[in-house]
Amino acid sequence: MLFGKVKDPICGMKISKRKAAGVVEHHGTLYYFCSTGCKEKFEKEPKKYTETG
Ligand SMILES: [Zn+2]
Repeated sequence: MLFGKVKDPICGMKISKRKAAGVVEHHGTLYYFCSTGCKEKFEKEPKKYTETG
């Protein structure tokens, strides 16, 4: 596994943390996004994309 790779919870794309277009903290977990569009979707309905809600 390569260091710093994460999965965008919106589109499922694998991205590197350094290249992420946005980061959101939700219930103490950091989520990384490939684009600001994905980030905005997550911010509107984080419950839809996380197990913890
Ligand atoms: Zn995305």
